[in-house]
Amino acid sequence: MSTTEKLALYRQWRPQNFRDVVAQKQVVLPLQQSIRSGRFAHAFLFSGTRGTGKTSLAKIFAKAINCLNPDDGNPCNECETCLAANSGSLMDIQEIDAASNNGVDDVRRLTSEIIFTPVLAEYKVYIIDEAHMLSQQAFNALLKTLEEPPSHAVFILATTEPHRIPATIMSRCQHYEFRRISQADIVQRLRTIADELSLSITDDALAVIAQLANGGMRDAISLLDQLRQIPGDIERDDVLQMAGRVPDQFLHTVAASILNYDPDALLRSIQELLMSGRDLTRFLLDLSSYMRNLLIVKVSRNPEELIQMTSAGLKQLSALADQSSSELISESIASLARLSSELRFSPDIRTSLEIGLLALAARLRNTFGETETGSREVRSKQEVRVETPVAQAELAAEQRIAEAAEPPVVVTKPEPRAPEAIATAKVEPQPQAERLEEVPAPAVAAQTEAATEAAVIAKEEKAQEPELPAAKATVEEIEVTPPEPAVKLDQAKSDPATLSTQAYEDETLRIWQNALEAIKEEHMMDLSLMARPAKVSRRGNVWTLLFDHSLKGQHACINEADSRATIRRILVELLNENIELEVILEDEASADAVTAEEDWMIKLKRITDKRSIPLHIDEELLNGGTR
Ligand SMILES: [Zn+2]
Repeated sequence: MSTTEKLALYRQWRPQNFRDVVAQKQVVLPLQQSIRSGRFAHAFLFSGTRGTGKTSLAKIFAKAINCLNPDDGNPCNECETCLAANSGSLMDIQEIDAASNNGVDDVRRLTSEIIFTPVLAEYKVYIIDEAHMLSQQAFNALLKTLEEPPSHAVFILATTEPHRIPATIMSRCQHYEFRRISQADIVQRLRTIADELSLSITDDALAVIAQLANGGMRDAISLLDQLRQIPGDIERDDVLQMAGRVPDQFLHTVAASILNYDPDALLRSIQELLMSGRDLTRFLLDLSSYMRNLLIVKVSRNPEELIQMTSAGLKQLSALADQSSSELISESIASLARLSSELRFSPDIRTSLEIGLLALAARLRNTFGETETGSREVRSKQEVRVETPVAQAELAAEQRIAEAAEPPVVVTKPEPRAPEAIATAKVEPQPQAERLEEVPAPAVAAQTEAATEAAVIAKEEKAQEPELPAAKATVEEIEVTPPEPAVKLDQAKSDPATLSTQAYEDETLRIWQNALEAIKEEHMMDLSLMARPAKVSRRGNVWTLLFDHSLKGQHACINEADSRATIRRILVELLNENIELEVILEDEASADAVTAEEDWMIKLKRITDKRSIPLHIDEELLNGGTR
C-alpha cells in the first residue's frame, strides 16, 4: 500500500460537516451558533493534540461561512463553493503549513494578497497549520494584519503547542481547545468505517486500536487502514502484532513462568521476545499491566467488566490467579516497576532483563514459595530431578542464583500472611502517574478500586491478627537493597571471549533504539510502529532490517521508498556517516534465522555455564532446532 493510499482512508473519512464531527462539542456548538447568527470572529486559534480534528473543523468552518445554501449552520456540500472547496480547487480557502513556510517573507506574501477580494467565495480563509512554527518576525508581520483584517478575511491558526504562540497574537484570536477523543467515541467511529468497508474486525480489536491511538482519531484510522491488508477476521492479537506489541497469550506464559518459577520457560520466552525485535521497555509495561489484571481477577467480583480481554484470555487469567496469592502478585508488580526503571539506565538491556526476571522469579519463590500451591508442584518436580547427579548439580546452581538474587541481610523470611506486605505493594502503582496513562482506562479505575478493596481486606486481617513488624521490615529491606543483576552483568560483559561481537551487537541495537525514538519524535507513528523488524544487523556500513515471514505487512510498509529513505536519513544523522539500508523479508523456510538463533543460544549457554547460572536448553534446539 503506498503512502497516498494510506492517507486516503483518513481523508475519505474526514468529517464533511459539523454533524459528522466526533466529540469536541465544546468547539462545534459555539462555532455553529456563530454561523447561524452570522456574527463570527475573524481570527481563531485551534489548539490540541494531534489527530483531534483541528484542521477538519477549520475546513468545515471555512466551507460553512461560504456555503450558498447552508443548512442550520452546516455546509451543504452540494453548492458551487462547497464542491470547489471539497475538490481543493477553491483559491479562497488556503491551507498553509507553517512548519515549511515559517519565514517573514511567507507571511508578507500572504498578507499582501489578502487585501484583494475573494475570487468565488464571500470570505478568504487562511488555515495556518502548526502555527507555533512561525518565526518571531513572521508573527510580527501577521500581527499587523490581525489587528486590522479586511472584512472578507478569516484566519484560523491551528497548533499542538499553544504556549508557543505569542500573547499578542493570542489576544487577537478566539481560542478553542480541542480535547483528546474518548476511546468509546473512537471505537464507535472505527466501527462505522469498518462496517462501511465490509471489514470484519472484533470489538476487542477496535478497543486496542483506540487505546494505542491515545485520543487521536487520525492515528486510529491510520492503524485501521494498515490492518486492512490482513486477510480474514481481524482480532485483538492482530492489532497487537501490527503495533509491535506482544499478544496476551505470550504475557500469560511469561507471568506463569515467573509466578510458578519455571526459569527454562522464562528464558525461552525472553529469547523469543528478543528475536521478534520488540521494544523491551514496552513489554515490561505490558507485563505489569497483565499482572495488575491478575490482581483484579483476584479481588473483584466482576472482573470481566474491568478487564479488556477475550473471554478465553480471561479464563486463562483467572486460572493463573487461582494458583497465586495476592501478595505474590503484588510483589511482582512492585518488582517489575523497579526493573523497568533499572532498564532505563542499563547499558545492556537484554542481559539485564533476563537476569532481572530470573532473579524476580527466584526471589518470589524463596519469599512466598512455601504457601503457594502452584510452587509446591514445581518443588515436587525438582525433588524428582534431584535423583540424577546432573540434576543435583543443576538444582544446587539454581539455589546459588536464587541466593545471590536475595539480599544477604534477609535472615528471617516474612510471615506468609503479613498484611503490611499487601498494603505496601498495592499502594506502589499510584505514584507512577505517567505510566498509568498507558493502561486502558477501565484498568486504572479497577486498580484504584482494587487498591481500596485490598486496603480494606488488609485492615480486616490486621484486626484479626497481631501486628508483624519484623515482616514489614524485611519487605522494605528487600526494596532498598541494590539489585544484584548489575554485578552479574559486569561479570558477563568482562568475559573477553564474548565481549567484542556482543558489544558490537549491543551497540547496533542501541543505535537502532535511538533511531526508533527519533522516528517517534518526528511524529511518524505508522513508521515507528512498523519499523520493528525481526532482526537488525550491520556489516560495515550496510544495515539490514530482516523481517520474519509473519511480519509481511510491516515489511511491505518499511520497504516503501519513502519509509526506507526516512530510516536511512535518521541513521545517517545518528551515526554521522553514510550508510546503506537493506530491508529483507525472510523466506519462510530460511535457514538463516535458525543459525542466528542457534548462535545466540550457544553464546548464552557459554556465558551461563561459565558463571554457573543454571540454564537448560533442549539439545534439540542447540543442534539445529525445530523452531
Ligand atoms: Zn454549500
